[in-house]
Amino acid sequence: MTSKSTSLIHHPYVPPEGFAAVQPAVHRASTVIFSSVEEMHQRDWRDKSGYTYGLHGTPTTFTLEERLCELEGGRFCTLAPSGLSAITLVNLALLQAGDEVLLPDNVYGPNRAFVEVELAKWGISHQIYDPMNPADLASRVQPNTRLVWIEAAGSVSLEFPDGPALVEVVKRANQSRVSSDQRQILTALDNTWGAGVAFQPFDWGIDVSVHALTKYPSGGADVLMGSVMTCDRALHADIQMTHSRLGLGVAGDDAERVLRGMPSMVLRYQRQDQTTRTLAQWATQQNAFVRVLHPALPDSPGHEAFVRTCSGAACLFSVVFDPEYTQAQVEAFCDRLNLFKLGYSWAGPMSLVVPYQLPAMRRFPWPHGRHLVRFAIGLEDAEDLQADIAQSLAAMG
Ligand SMILES: *Cc1c(COP(=O)(O)O)cnc(C)c1O
Repeated sequence: MTSKSTSLIHHPYVPPEGFAAVQPAVHRASTVIFSSVEEMHQRDWRDKSGYTYGLHGTPTTFTLEERLCELEGGRFCTLAPSGLSAITLVNLALLQAGDEVLLPDNVYGPNRAFVEVELAKWGISHQIYDPMNPADLASRVQPNTRLVWIEAAGSVSLEFPDGPALVEVVKRANQSRVSSDQRQILTALDNTWGAGVAFQPFDWGIDVSVHALTKYPSGGADVLMGSVMTCDRALHADIQMTHSRLGLGVAGDDAERVLRGMPSMVLRYQRQDQTTRTLAQWATQQNAFVRVLHPALPDSPGHEAFVRTCSGAACLFSVVFDPEYTQAQVEAFCDRLNLFKLGYSWAGPMSLVVPYQLPAMRRFPWPHGRHLVRFAIGLEDAEDLQADIAQSLAAMG
């Protein structure tokens, strides 16, 4: 006879038969039990044929990875605890001392900070290229270039680069490396804006797609997660092993939260896209704004590339205030908004706003104005959001 306590712990749990629920269950584990030492040695988590330890995957995380492959058109996916940790994982997995990484001027800010500060400590150098000029990228490729990041669109400045043309520059540079022992240059796209909905990233020929699942796949503004995807088995194995050595993992409950958001994500993407275009178009008629940045607007940078490559756009647009307004006035405009809350991130239910001083964030000249405000459109009605911006503009005088 075992004790009450022990028998409760060893309660013979049998999952309900025929319980084929619509939504997958949450599986939580650090430890996974093996029936023999032989089984312990034989089970393999790397090809996802078996479970060995919580950090190496659970039925819940494997299910999410499979759905993300479906979404982005990739073959192999690895989850990370945030979008940023997915980005740093790619950098750490693919770069070594002596290598150089090229970042676009519109790169997600924390990626740039990681490269400038952390990778520099490990002897990995970087250059910033002009994302709107493939010739500029071509001129910066060197023998030690190993990785090129692409951001489409810039998530504050909203310029849309010609992604396939940037990838073509890298492919051409790689052709001259085929016969030498130099490693090929890899391309990594931050696919958070496109989210697997606006375009299929691997159609562009990129090697790695990184996605902040915190945004659209979650959609609830209540979970942080990221993914790294590729179609190349060997590349995936490198990423997976670095992931494992760094001890990165995601909780089953968080993975299930993202799984719950995924069935509605395309609808949310499309609805937010529609509202965003409506408001961006309306903003072009407001005197206080000298410029509205959204790739669907004909005078927004990269409009042609956007039209060629995308069937949708994310929920972001930015406005540049007339230089007659001071920074304090622009900040007061943001403070007066009621429905738009001051907060980072996007693609959740609630609309958000953040003021930026753009020229200070750029290496290349930014001719489109100084005081920029970025709107992230949520799931509210367009008329209500428009009225909110209008009341705050009216109070500017
Ligand atoms: C939010 C975001 C990230 C980082 O995601 P977190 O989960 O917040 O770390 C990376 N890239 C882009 C473009 C983002 O918008």
